[in-house]
Amino acid sequence: MAAGMIKSADKKDNKALLRERAERHLGDVDLLQSDAEKNKLLHELSVHQIELEMQNSELYDARIAQNEALNRYTELFEFAPLAYLVINADAKIRSINLTGATLLGKDRSELIGTSLAHFVCGSQRTVFTRSLAATVNTKQATAFELRLVIGQRDLWVNLGLKPDSMLGYCLLTMTDITKNKKAEIELQLASAVYGSLSEAVMVVSAHYEIINVNPSFTALTGYCHDEVIGKYSSLICSREQKHDALSRIWRELIDGKWEGEIDLCRKNGEEYLAKLSISSIYNLQNEVTHRVATFSDISEKKRLDNIILKQANYDLLTGLPNRQLFQDRLSQGLHQSKRSKKKLALLSLDIDKFKEVNDSFGHRVGDALLVEASTRISQCVREADTVARLGGDEFSIVMGDLDDLSSILPVANRILQVMAEPFRLEDSFAYVSVSIGVAVSPDDAIAVEALINHADNAMYAAKKSGRNRIHFYTPSMQEKVDRKLYLSGQLREALANEEISMFYQPIVDFKTGEIHKAEALIRWKHPELGYIPPDEFIPIAEETDQIVKVGNWVFYQVAKQISAWRFNHDPAFQVSINKSPAQFTRLCNQEVWINYLRRIDLGPGALVIEITEGLLMDGDEQIKQQLAQLSDSGIDISLDDFGTGYSSLAYLKKFNVDYLKIDQSFVRELSKDSDDLALCEAIIVMAHKLDIKVVAEGVETEAQRDLLQAAGCDFGQGFLFSKAVPADEFESILASGL
Ligand code: C2E
Ligand code: CA
Ligand code: CA
Repeated sequence: MAAGMIKSADKKDNKALLRERAERHLGDVDLLQSDAEKNKLLHELSVHQIELEMQNSELYDARIAQNEALNRYTELFEFAPLAYLVINADAKIRSINLTGATLLGKDRSELIGTSLAHFVCGSQRTVFTRSLAATVNTKQATAFELRLVIGQRDLWVNLGLKPDSMLGYCLLTMTDITKNKKAEIELQLASAVYGSLSEAVMVVSAHYEIINVNPSFTALTGYCHDEVIGKYSSLICSREQKHDALSRIWRELIDGKWEGEIDLCRKNGEEYLAKLSISSIYNLQNEVTHRVATFSDISEKKRLDNIILKQANYDLLTGLPNRQLFQDRLSQGLHQSKRSKKKLALLSLDIDKFKEVNDSFGHRVGDALLVEASTRISQCVREADTVARLGGDEFSIVMGDLDDLSSILPVANRILQVMAEPFRLEDSFAYVSVSIGVAVSPDDAIAVEALINHADNAMYAAKKSGRNRIHFYTPSMQEKVDRKLYLSGQLREALANEEISMFYQPIVDFKTGEIHKAEALIRWKHPELGYIPPDEFIPIAEETDQIVKVGNWVFYQVAKQISAWRFNHDPAFQVSINKSPAQFTRLCNQEVWINYLRRIDLGPGALVIEITEGLLMDGDEQIKQQLAQLSDSGIDISLDDFGTGYSSLAYLKKFNVDYLKIDQSFVRELSKDSDDLALCEAIIVMAHKLDIKVVAEGVETEAQRDLLQAAGCDFGQGFLFSKAVPADEFESILASGL
């Protein structure tokens, strides 16, 4: 007990004081008195001391009794459940009990003398000071709620003020009501949220009668509050479901909860799709007292979701699955076929010459053809197969669940058939065909990407071997793809390694038998693979953007050669080079070429540029301009491989074409009375009418030469005269004749 301890310390102090005094006396008498006197004195002193101590001890006991009584009150005061404070009229704390100090979170010593207003939350400080002043002035007790701020936390208290009329200060009591207050605030909040919730809320009893609804309920269902109270909750269900849907849900509750989509019905009979969630409220005995249903109309959201889903997964034009969905289906199909140990076929389809349809009939007609094509293709497959449009004129078919491969070919053949039938588009008919590549899982590949690649390669092979046909994937196709990849890497170094050179093939004048022209043909001698034919590496150069670099190299090489031959052999000598369409579209700067020719003094007619029909079919204004620019600067234009493409002769006049080269395929089969001869004759006659000279390519026999000569063909090129040879060999031909 704190008070008792203090007293016992006092007692000790008294004793020490006595001894000190006695010894001081002894010291004084020491000088004057004898031993006997000294002893006597000492004896008296100790008796006196004992008496004194006895007196002290009685006093002490009495004081203890008094203190203990005081202590009990002190304890009552300190540990009372209420905080007690005595404060001045200016709110300064005079005294505070332990409960109070604990409540305010500070040591009592710190609190004494500080103003209680210091703890009152800012917005309530005036309320507090005014109430305190009123209590002091009117000498009337008051009580009110007050929010204090203790450090970081809010403390709500019930505050009682009682004035002490004699001394002019106030007795103050405080009870912590924070818990209740928080609950009250939460309740207010919940009710505000309930009222302002955008979702409809319906509270029903354990017997499914509606007890309360919020404003959103009225807005959504059309039923007002009073109309529904006491009614059964099935009121909000659609007519057919009225007895069913909700009561089924009530039965299906798991842990008192349910969430899902359900058809509901407004007061006006209009049905809507709702997202509904139900939760239950239990009493202490764990019995359901209420259910709360929260719901909102998701019809519109559902509609938009469906549109988005459709846009993300379906091709807008044909309504077929798009690439995204196709890949999903293919991947699912592959899983499925792995499980069932059955086969899956992937067909890659590409419409042949679709571009021509688009170019000649316009995009609208092209689109109509695609729509019709997708219907025709879809009719050839089973319900479970996926027909997808991957973009442009590319389609794909996934045929899963196959016991063997026997059903693939009939389906593919049927597609060839239906696609070969004329497409009636607006007022005209269009004819197309389709090339189909097939790859099979697990035989050819088991992974999505690999299977797609294989089917594509098979389709390219079908195109290459003449279109309008079906090709099954073979491993050699993959080898070709691998070789292509390898060559494209090697080609990058070929120029620097001087593996590339130019060969020249003479072009013979049929009238005189003389050679004043040649075609420059590129040669690549790979250190390991030997000669790579240009038919193989030029397309690779075109696909990998290397064509511009290669084409420029060819140009400078040939320009220098012409210059030398014009100087040494024939001032009118002319050489043609081949220029890929890609060189026109990838904007290699022609002006640089033209300026170079001027600089090395190569006049008009020295260079011919051979282009293909496809370039003209593009109808691109920019290409037209580039061709005109070439013509204007004295470079001749020659149309290569004539007859393999689509261009009509009349079309050529628009492009300042100087030469036309009849493709080898017409020359090869040339014989008396053959169709090809008739064709060659017609081409020659019409070309001459348009002031275009004709070169026959691939002349291998004298018979071919004679027929062409008789038909009026101007020039001939072919193995009959010479194959393409290096420049020095060509010079000997020039010097000695053929
Ligand atoms: P092309 O422009 O049609 O060239 C004629 C091709 O026919 C040459 O093949 C030539 O060697 C071959 N040829 C010539 N006479 C006969 C013959 O009597 N019988 C047969 N069967 N063939 C004959 P080459 O040199 O293999 O070139 C193939 C193609 O590569 C060329 O076809 C051309 O399109 C392209 N090419 C060649 N050099 C270049 C070039 O420098 N640049 C570009 N862009 N393409 C080139
Ligand atoms: Ca050519
Ligand atoms: Ca040619």
